[in-house]
Amino acid sequence: MAAFGPQGWWPVGWNKPLYRPGFYGPISENEIFEICAGAILTQNTSWKNVEKALAALHAADTTSPEKINVCPAGKLGRLVRSSGYYRQKAGRLKGFCCYILRKHPEGLKKWFSAAPRQTLRGELLSLKGIGPETADSIALYAAGKAGFVIDSYTKRISQRLGFAGELSYEDWQALFEANLPPNAGTYNEYHALLVKLGKEFCKKRKPLCNGCPLGKMCNNKK
Ligand code: SF4
Repeated sequence: MAAFGPQGWWPVGWNKPLYRPGFYGPISENEIFEICAGAILTQNTSWKNVEKALAALHAADTTSPEKINVCPAGKLGRLVRSSGYYRQKAGRLKGFCCYILRKHPEGLKKWFSAAPRQTLRGELLSLKGIGPETADSIALYAAGKAGFVIDSYTKRISQRLGFAGELSYEDWQALFEANLPPNAGTYNEYHALLVKLGKEFCKKRKPLCNGCPLGKMCNNKK
């Protein structure tokens, strides 16, 4: 945090998602839905590609569960094409929208605020195409539940620092949750800061160790 400052996740604004450093909610129904859509679309692709898909959905006035649910599959696929695996992702997005309209007509905000974290996580995981990282991203950034998100940046940095070897997703999550205060604001920033560090310094092939804020504590500093 001292090196990078608050990250302002999750960026929202369909046409041009913006990061809001220091803002921790509350967020609107439409922003909650946008975060869910972004979390589904960002699987296996860069955020830049997701931004293009979100902007295309916005340009086509297709930014609600109701509108996505009735959007023809081919058209939805074209709108989210930039996010890659677009037929699959269009199907997942449509499936998510269909589910929430059918099972949670009270809306995302009411559903999320009423559901305990593990119940919400389990329900999200039961949906096609939503794995642990996506479910935890939605639970943390859209629902404000204190569950730590694990991704490839988190694993790589932690392994290079010497904190752990090969662990399951759940064990990684348990490791972080056992060592951090259990609140959503901390988890929000911590995950976002790890992504920032992974992108700017702890790169996959050639880490830029000179200038890395964690250099002094790293077992693998080059
Ligand atoms: S010092 Fe190098 S290997 Fe260690 S965390 Fe920083 S960038 Fe990664």
